[in-house]
Amino acid sequence: MTKDPQAVPAQEALERLQKGNQRFLDALRPSGDISPELRRDTCENGQHPYAIVIACSDSRVVPEHIFDAGIGELFVIRIAGNVIDAHQLGSIEYAAQHLGCRLILVMGHTHCGAVEAAICHNPDGYIRFITDEIRAAIGGEKDEEKASRLNVRHSVSIIESSLVIHQEEETHRLCVRGALYHPASGRVEFLDDSGEKEKKDPNAGMDFAPLLESLIGVIQEFHLKLGYEKKEIGLYYPLDSLNRLLDRTLTPQEMDRALAAFADGEKDRLGPLQISRKGDRYCIRVPETGAAYVHDHVEEPKFLAAFLKTLERKDLAFSDIRAVFERFSNQARWKEADHEQFDYLFWFADDKPDAYRYCVRFEEDGHTSYHRFTQKEYDARA
Ligand SMILES: [Zn+2]
Repeated sequence: MTKDPQAVPAQEALERLQKGNQRFLDALRPSGDISPELRRDTCENGQHPYAIVIACSDSRVVPEHIFDAGIGELFVIRIAGNVIDAHQLGSIEYAAQHLGCRLILVMGHTHCGAVEAAICHNPDGYIRFITDEIRAAIGGEKDEEKASRLNVRHSVSIIESSLVIHQEEETHRLCVRGALYHPASGRVEFLDDSGEKEKKDPNAGMDFAPLLESLIGVIQEFHLKLGYEKKEIGLYYPLDSLNRLLDRTLTPQEMDRALAAFADGEKDRLGPLQISRKGDRYCIRVPETGAAYVHDHVEEPKFLAAFLKTLERKDLAFSDIRAVFERFSNQARWKEADHEQFDYLFWFADDKPDAYRYCVRFEEDGHTSYHRFTQKEYDARA
């Protein structure tokens, strides 16, 4: 990309949008310049829009009116529900790379029919492409305004994670912002002080400790079962499990970044973690330095060791399993499992020596299989 001397810096573009919206609120009719002179001038000398606006197709949401803009001022992409896919990204890239736009504004709105359809209906036909995308953004949110905000955030995060846009962001001060238009008042609410902070440090306040604990727990389990070797271990997590561990509702793109930050924070301890994703399934590869760290520095889980030792025996009975739990605590509990594929659930009421839920199944061939879950994970799958 060539440096465009006419490019308007993102902050200045944002202020122009805010002032434009104020003029719109104050005026009775649009005052943007649509004169024949400007029309001819922009044809002969090219366009230099100062911002990219992604808005809904709703006939009440007209960005040029809302920001009191004339010909050549805004590069507008309109699509029902302001969702983002490859075509929209292509348009954004074009305007950023070739027209010098520095500000990308995703503007959702209240009373959005597309968001409402995603919350309340199951549309057929091509509409579904849009409502499915919105649903991915809003999860189970039923409040229309909150859902609209989540939908804007989702579009912002898709734009930010698009590779070319991301490079532009670093080298050319490209800025992606979200906004919510209120058609009743005409006011544009720029969603961002908190969003902006999140953007600079999207993992601010995120507690990675439960993820680290889970990782270490699985590595220990692995070592106890297969014997310790100083070698790389691959661990698999679905997106929803990671969200439960981090107590967030991150999109895959946001999770990519969160895990990158996690890996960065752990590189001195666990070594360089390799993180990959297929759809919403993640693989975290812990290198041999990480395996060695867990083996050498984290205390061996004595209960898990004893439990696994017990499971090596054939033809176990319920009482054998109960005995190993009772050996470690008088707070041991058990009941029939809520999961069809298991017979019993065991746990420690006071979460000591550990807080896992152990599901056990007595197989027909005489061996005993198990899976251990965190309580949240167990509840989510019950
Ligand atoms: Zn709409």
